[in-house]
Amino acid sequence: MDYYGVIGNPVAHSKSPFIHERFAQLTQQELIYEKIECPIGQFKEKIEYLQSTYRPALFNSLNQNASLFKGCNVTIPFKQDAFNLATKHSPRALLAQACNTLKFEEGHIIADNTDGLGLIRDIEINAKFPIKGKKVLLLGAGGAAAGALGPLIEAMPLQITIANRTVAKAEHLCMTHTPLAKLHQVQLLASSINAVGDAYDLLINATASSLAGVQVPVNDSVLSPQALGYDMMYGPNAQAFLEWVELHGGIARDGLGMLVEQAAEAFYIWRGVRPDSARVLQEMRQKV
Ligand code: NAP
Repeated sequence: MDYYGVIGNPVAHSKSPFIHERFAQLTQQELIYEKIECPIGQFKEKIEYLQSTYRPALFNSLNQNASLFKGCNVTIPFKQDAFNLATKHSPRALLAQACNTLKFEEGHIIADNTDGLGLIRDIEINAKFPIKGKKVLLLGAGGAAAGALGPLIEAMPLQITIANRTVAKAEHLCMTHTPLAKLHQVQLLASSINAVGDAYDLLINATASSLAGVQVPVNDSVLSPQALGYDMMYGPNAQAFLEWVELHGGIARDGLGMLVEQAAEAFYIWRGVRPDSARVLQEMRQKV
């Protein structure tokens, strides 16, 4: 049996084991997927410990039932540690400078980032909201925003404004993504979150404001009529944002679909098969 998990701190709340177990059942894959709680500052040690516990030598000799550690999802606060530990990086992990998926293969630790692709699939396929030609406001410039920005540019909106509390971080993301934006003819702007004055077709909340239970960090004038207001958060913590969007005439969507879609892409990276993510998202909606 191949062994996978989600590594984070805290990780008890994670829905990833349910999602990956359903993916495995639906694609007839045999694997184990667990929550892996890691002490802060000990990411490397934890990965090394798991690699030595679940290793090929054991599998081939003494214990036929032992598992091989093939990969893991990485969540707060280890996305940067995972990126630094990796010996190979996918182009999208390199662009984001953050990693949410590790794959262990032939002595290498391979870093990827599936957050952005998960977000775009949820918006364009599940919510049926085409991004091409739209004006987009991306709130936040942390790991999730960094992961989202590359795939967002590739979806070819007219313009993306990255607005963050710490404006220097928004400017940095803008700078690192300018060549890609030019390639796709997307206008890329950086702003302080307090200075956003325009109206947008798509508002993506990639800040931790909902997680922190604080007020929506922008004025309601940012929502064009029929704008899609998307919070990467899901569950009860996302409710205040979703209600705010609907109150101001927008279409509200939480980040549950992004969670399932980023997991589906990680599953594809590990197993080479695409699970029925729409079906698992429907099941998740009933659970959450
Ligand atoms: P992060 O790296 O810690 O970044 C946090 C971001 O939020 C920063 O831009 C920070 O601004 C901003 N922020 C924090 N508190 C704020 C407040 N009260 N008002 C305004 N801005 C605030 O976190 P992350 O990894 O990017 O995650 C961000 C959110 O996305 C979390 O809620 C996370 O759960 C969610 N997420 C969801 C998925 C999914 O699959 N659905 C995947 C990834 C992340 P400063 O730079 O100024 O500090």
